[in-house]
Order: sequence, then structure tokens, then C-alpha cells
Amino acid sequence: MSPRSPLLAGLLLALSAFFSASTAVGAAPLKALLITGGCCHNYAFQAQALTEGVNQTVAVQWTVINEGGRGTRAQIPLYDNPDWAKGYDVVVHNECFADTADEGYIRRIVAGHGKGGTPAVVIHCAMHSYRAATIDDWREFLGVTSRRHDHQSRYPVKVVAPEHPALAGFKPDWVTPMDELYIIEKVWPKTTVLAVSPSERDAKEHAVVWTNDYLGTRVFGTTYGHSDDTFRDPTFIDLLTRGLLWAAGRR
Ligand SMILES: [Zn+2]
Repeated sequence: MSPRSPLLAGLLLALSAFFSASTAVGAAPLKALLITGGCCHNYAFQAQALTEGVNQTVAVQWTVINEGGRGTRAQIPLYDNPDWAKGYDVVVHNECFADTADEGYIRRIVAGHGKGGTPAVVIHCAMHSYRAATIDDWREFLGVTSRRHDHQSRYPVKVVAPEHPALAGFKPDWVTPMDELYIIEKVWPKTTVLAVSPSERDAKEHAVVWTNDYLGTRVFGTTYGHSDDTFRDPTFIDLLTRGLLWAAGRR
């Protein structure tokens, strides 16, 4: 068939109309930036499990930054650029640099999510990153303050906001694989707690899934995500997928 065939031309026209209609209703792939690396976790594996797991159900075009080594202190070159978050629909923070305390560096990171900035998903040790800093900018962005965790165990997850669009339809009786319970010292005022787990030490319930409104930017967080087994759990991948979609304004 010649490329000039009216049949083929008609088909191409129909296809192009179909794809522009799909784009118009929001079916274009999400552009996501995953920032990972640092201490205490198998981040190469987690990055693979997260990106491949999410893409089972949602079309996401990932950019993965795994820099800074495996220590507790690093400043990665990405954040040298004040526009580092521009051009992405959502940024996923799954990094672990507790002893990095440089205030200018931390403020440049947070500024990427400030007013009119890029939405975020924050996972596990992101909550203990920049823990050594005296400024609270990062913790206000996260929506929770945590500085320590309980022992590893399999923790039951109680959904407390089942109607919230980020969790509507989520498995109601999930028990995590072996993971750490982060002790939440403070829930910031713009945070909505979506699920909690009890400490095995004193039965106190701690937020384990939440959303935050950071200067008008959506943030979705979970303190789970320590072990490889958690990242192998389809329910955890489902949780992150929901969080990603909600943060990016797709639900
Ligand atoms: Zn951990």
C-alpha cells in the first residue's frame, strides 16, 4: 500500500485524533522524578521495584537520581539548580541523609515544592533526612516531624480516612511486611492523617500515611518502606501508586 493511499491517510488522521483526545483527558504519561540513595536501605532494588511496580498500572515516565552514596551525609548536584523540580508532574523522595544540615541546601530542595511548585511523594527515610538541621523547613514540607523509630515488626495499618480520594478503595486490613514504625512527634497543621499503626511498646498510634498541603502543593507521605519485602508487597506498591496519582492531581 502506498503511503499516499486514502485509506492509510484516513487511518492516520483517525489515530492522531484519538491520541490528541486521549491527551486532552489526561492520559499522557506522568513525568516523575525519583530521588533516592543514602544510608541503611537497598535503594537500587527499591527504585526498580517502585518504578516497575507503579508502571504495571499507570503510565509513568521516570527519571531516577540515585546519588550521594550510602552514608548519612551528602549534597547531590541535582539541587544546585534552583529549578531542579521544574518540568515534572511529581517528585518522589526516597532518600536517607539524616546528617546533612546545610540550611541553604535544604531550603533549595523545599523551594522546589513551595508555592506553585511540584507535588511530592515522601517515603520512609525521607522523614529522617535532614534530621540534624535546626531549621524546620523540610519537616513542614513533609507534614510530620519524626526523629526515631520503633523496632522492626509486621505492623497493622488502620485506615482512618477511608473516603479520602488518595485512599478510597485501599485494602482496609493491611499488615506490613517487616518494617519500622516511625515515631511521629508532631503532625503539622495542614496535614491530614489517612492511616495509623500502633506502637508495640506503648500502643500509641502513629500516622503512617498522610497528605499535606504545603503552601498549596500536594504532598503524600508514608513512613513505611524500610525493607525489600515491603517493596515486594503489591499492597505497598498500590499505596504508592495511589499517592503518586493523588499528588499529581489525577484523583
Ligand atoms: Zn529504615
